[in-house]
Amino acid sequence: MWLEVLSEILKLTIFAGLALAGILAILIWKKDLKTKVSYLRFFVQATAMTAFFFIFSYTTQLLLILVVIFALSIFFGRFFCGWLCPFALYLDLVAAVRKAFKIRYWNFPDKLNKFLNRFRYALLIFFIALPFMLEKIEPWQWSLAKFLIGPFKLVSVLLGPVEPLVIPWESSLKLYNINLSYPYASVIAFYSGENLALIAISIFIAITLASSFVVRRFWCRFCPTGVSFAVLNRFKIFRWIPLLRLNKVEEKCTKCGICKRVCPAQVTDVYEVKGGDITTSMCMLCLRCVEMCPYEDCLKLNMAGKTLFKSRNWLEPSKIE
Ligand code: SF4
Ligand code: SF4
Repeated sequence: MWLEVLSEILKLTIFAGLALAGILAILIWKKDLKTKVSYLRFFVQATAMTAFFFIFSYTTQLLLILVVIFALSIFFGRFFCGWLCPFALYLDLVAAVRKAFKIRYWNFPDKLNKFLNRFRYALLIFFIALPFMLEKIEPWQWSLAKFLIGPFKLVSVLLGPVEPLVIPWESSLKLYNINLSYPYASVIAFYSGENLALIAISIFIAITLASSFVVRRFWCRFCPTGVSFAVLNRFKIFRWIPLLRLNKVEEKCTKCGICKRVCPAQVTDVYEVKGGDITTSMCMLCLRCVEMCPYEDCLKLNMAGKTLFKSRNWLEPSKIE
């Protein structure tokens, strides 16, 4: 009974969230509400989080969810990281708290940032290899089936960030009988054992939240799921597939550097690359740079060649809404 009530509430929340996000999207598109993209993103993120709770409540087909997310990423690049990922929503809320206290974030020095961009692929390979290492699987057993059924399942590594905070199944984290989750919590609990599970999970939560308080979207820079999507933008062979692309008109760029400063993923290519397609493997298509670029038509989000959203001249007082 309660599950049916919950299901109806979730459905209504998703419907209301989508409707509000749709209205805001139309206003931004038609009425040129340039600084409202961040609000739109928040609506979409919150709706996506509710939708994920709904999906996790009604299907145990985790592999299927993973396949759908990856299939979408083939067409839309890292849009998932910028707009849909539940873990990213928590990190953005942490950033909002930091902003409310007027605490400045910390940027990685450029060289370290570039090194870390490459290092994340090594980390992804490590995560993929981990199930084999932990299970001590013999080389002849390295079949896909074995790969997915070990205790440290690849599917849970890649779906970790997608799990909502409250989950409808038995978990190792509980608050007044409400089952809580956190990315990778079940894997950490499995390997820490019953006695140490809570301590190990608490340390992991503290580290990920504290790091994201200091560095914007810290986890997203190394997240195995995000890095897997990033591969699609990294290698030329895949670049013709994603439909969503970020473009820059070099002649309109005054090198003011705002795009570089506002980017939560510390993508410098948006500033450095000389026009054309500037979508990179680090870009989460969050559109913060497009929203904040103060020059008309300089930065654009294109979908299959059509412009969906572009920068506006918000420096001219008459054009500020
Ligand atoms: S914000 Fe726009 S104009 Fe300024 S550097 Fe970036 S792309 Fe160029
Ligand atoms: S480059 Fe622009 S769209 Fe990409 S992550 Fe940075 S701010 Fe977001």
